[in-house]
Amino acid sequence: MNKPQSWEARADEFSLYGFTDLPSVHKRGAVVLTHGEGPYVVDVNGRRYLDANSGLWNMVAGFDHKGLAEAAKAQYDRFPGYHAFFGRMSDQTVMLSEKLVEVSPFERGKVFYTNSGSEANDTMVKMLWFLHASEGNPKRRKILTRMNAYHGVTVVSASMTGKPYNEVFGLPLDGFFHLTCPHYWRFGEPDETEEEFTARLARELEETIEREGADTIAGFFAEPVMGAGGVIPPSKGYFQAILPILRKHAIPVISDEVICGFGRTGNTWGCQTYDFMPDAIISSKSLTAGLFPMGAVILGPELSDRLQAAVEEIEEFPHGFTASGHPVGCAIALKAIDVVMNEGLAENVRELAPRMEAGLRAIMDRSDHIGELRGVGFMWALEAVKDKATKTPFDGDLSVSERIANTCTDLGLICRPLGQSIVLCPPFILTEPQMDEMFEKLEQALNEVFAEIA
Ligand SMILES: *Cc1c(COP(=O)(O)O)cnc(C)c1O
Repeated sequence: MNKPQSWEARADEFSLYGFTDLPSVHKRGAVVLTHGEGPYVVDVNGRRYLDANSGLWNMVAGFDHKGLAEAAKAQYDRFPGYHAFFGRMSDQTVMLSEKLVEVSPFERGKVFYTNSGSEANDTMVKMLWFLHASEGNPKRRKILTRMNAYHGVTVVSASMTGKPYNEVFGLPLDGFFHLTCPHYWRFGEPDETEEEFTARLARELEETIEREGADTIAGFFAEPVMGAGGVIPPSKGYFQAILPILRKHAIPVISDEVICGFGRTGNTWGCQTYDFMPDAIISSKSLTAGLFPMGAVILGPELSDRLQAAVEEIEEFPHGFTASGHPVGCAIALKAIDVVMNEGLAENVRELAPRMEAGLRAIMDRSDHIGELRGVGFMWALEAVKDKATKTPFDGDLSVSERIANTCTDLGLICRPLGQSIVLCPPFILTEPQMDEMFEKLEQALNEVFAEIA
């Protein structure tokens, strides 16, 4: 085999890139990384980048946290792998389930483990289908989500995702419905107040339930703040308006907290930030601070009881992954929860969130081409617009957000282009000087790119 020489060429030759803007990577080559230091990552050429994306939202404790690595090593030495089938599971798995229920908003509950957020959403859908059928409602199979929601990439979680790119796979499957995205700035009518917009979305939900029949709907899934949709917090009063409708029709409410969970919004859970009580929580990403692939379904008291009763009847829940509740993943998650909650990380997000908002707002105010700043905690997006007053986007062919992100990369800052917005979701350990570095590099990149295209 004749291997190409450079890391970039080798990456290109042998790896199929997922979710990658190919024109950018063809022109620039892949960034191949070797290690990290705090919130920075370092590439094969020794270049350092401040990773204002926390890897993929998940490396919340940075890239070289000693305690987390030690917890992993200790568990690899003690008991390096096991499953959670046939009534056996590791002690770490037992302890993590206790911990997750303890830190959840639920009084009691039950936890089921997967290897990813996508699988956790798939698992939740199977739980709902099974549960409803067992209770004599086999028609309750439809799933409600929202446009721009991101719930993953497996066949079911991609069907729940409200993004047009899934059309290339012939998805969504039948029975997956996407309601209007609660993004007032973009989808509000010109003469509509935010409250009226929220009320319209609540009416849409009610009408959808009536049209489809409540007795055909299995559940409603929502991210408290949409993440990969472009950091979209709900419109004012959104969850307070829709929850009563869902409750009235006995439709379980699932909070997909894969991004929001464990401190990203300033509270442990996004549903706490937006003040609603779901029936179950989906967790992943920062659950292990990015050190192990793991997802979890955390059922609240009612769904725990109902699912348990359904399972007792058939004597077994026929579902699970080989590595569900992996002891190393569980040991890391136990440590990650401790690190986030007790080493000042969650506190740092709460304390520095106003500073992050103010810094980004100042950048927006100085720019003619940032139309909206939105976010909460340590998750923010700046939306580029050709014209601030009319909110007119740039011509798609200009790839404005990709250019901004690429220019940031050249300056040593990693941020993510999403639609025409730039997403910033730094690790929770970010310091004030590092935040200033992020602001400076971002603004320089914005200025350079807008000077080129506007
Ligand atoms: C990332 C994400 C998922 C999917 O998680 P994977 O581990 O990538 O499968 C699901 N829901 C939300 C909200 C996410 O951000």
